[in-house]
Amino acid sequence: MADTYRCFWVEKDAAGDVQQSIIDRSVADLPSVESPSVRVAVRWTSLNYKDALAATGHPGIVRHFPHVPGIDVIGEVIDSDDPQFSTGQTVIVTGHELGTSHHGGWSQQIRVPASWIVPLPQGLTPREAIILGTAGFTAAQCVQALQHHGVEPDSGKVVVTGASGGVASIAIQILWRLGYDVVAVSGKPDQHSRLKRWGAAEVIDRNDFIDESKRPLLSARYAGAVDTVGGTTLDTLLRTTAYRGCIAACGLAGGHELQTTVYPFLLRGITLAGIDSAMCPMPQRLEIWNRLASDWKPTELEDLANEISLDDLPAAVDSMLAGKHSGRSIVPM
Ligand code: NDP
Repeated sequence: MADTYRCFWVEKDAAGDVQQSIIDRSVADLPSVESPSVRVAVRWTSLNYKDALAATGHPGIVRHFPHVPGIDVIGEVIDSDDPQFSTGQTVIVTGHELGTSHHGGWSQQIRVPASWIVPLPQGLTPREAIILGTAGFTAAQCVQALQHHGVEPDSGKVVVTGASGGVASIAIQILWRLGYDVVAVSGKPDQHSRLKRWGAAEVIDRNDFIDESKRPLLSARYAGAVDTVGGTTLDTLLRTTAYRGCIAACGLAGGHELQTTVYPFLLRGITLAGIDSAMCPMPQRLEIWNRLASDWKPTELEDLANEISLDDLPAAVDSMLAGKHSGRSIVPM
């Protein structure tokens, strides 16, 4: 095993501007973590919206510079203080503080607490697992929340917003596999046929979906929703969700603010279910990964994947922050 590793380095220069570079570091400089810890040779990482924010030094994500982004890792254990993980074992590391408070997976090696590690379940190859990554994990958590709140395939249509993005495109595939009638909302006309291929029965243009009127309730059209966009999209969803429906709210690609009224909650009894993948407890984490490896496994995963290199990441980050990215960009290390 080499005693240096390459990583994507984000730091602030003397003028306070964020600078990105790819550097080699000594393994001795890997950040130390609480024991028991595990050192992992990263085989795959990926690009998520949170990584795009981290790579540009967003203060809500990066508190300390220099930083290494990357909230997803599929890799092999190099050494472990915890006997439940053995050298060479293939593991998944996502969420917790990886790529946020802690140096992340845009790196050939990471050292993390053993409590963050999920063994790769049977039924997933390492490549499939990275195509899923945090995006797939979050999508599955959203679907679980809908089920938990009684939204079943025969309840009515389920909307997925930001449809061509990582989380949403996997949510569409899972919902389709489970027999739901999926409506995709997307701002990319050129992606409509792909969205239908992934399982959307109907695709609505983002501009036609958002309602900017101040009417507290609109006609009740949807039994549930997976919302990756927030802002006026989430406000519209709240007002169009049918009696006893549920919206799993996981994202803010369109804005972090929410202006609404309490009427959808009081008059239609709807539920707004918040989704946090980073700190999801381990029993639920394992259950979701097992689901993703078996009966919830999306059938068109390869169709989502765009393989890029560490050097391609700055351009991919810009594209994602401009809302032009689609599917899942994965990075072999
Ligand atoms: P992506 O960039 O892959 O997807 C976001 C999608 O949102 C885009 O593809 C686009 O889809 C749509 N979009 C982009 N900009 C706008 C805009 N200005 N207005 C409306 N829609 C827009 O990101 P991810 O799938 O990785 O993440 C999606 C969201 O979910 C992010 O906000 C991310 O932070 C959040 N997230 C939250 C997690 C949690 O634990 N709560 C975990 C993972 C992600 P289209 O053009 O088709 O409309």
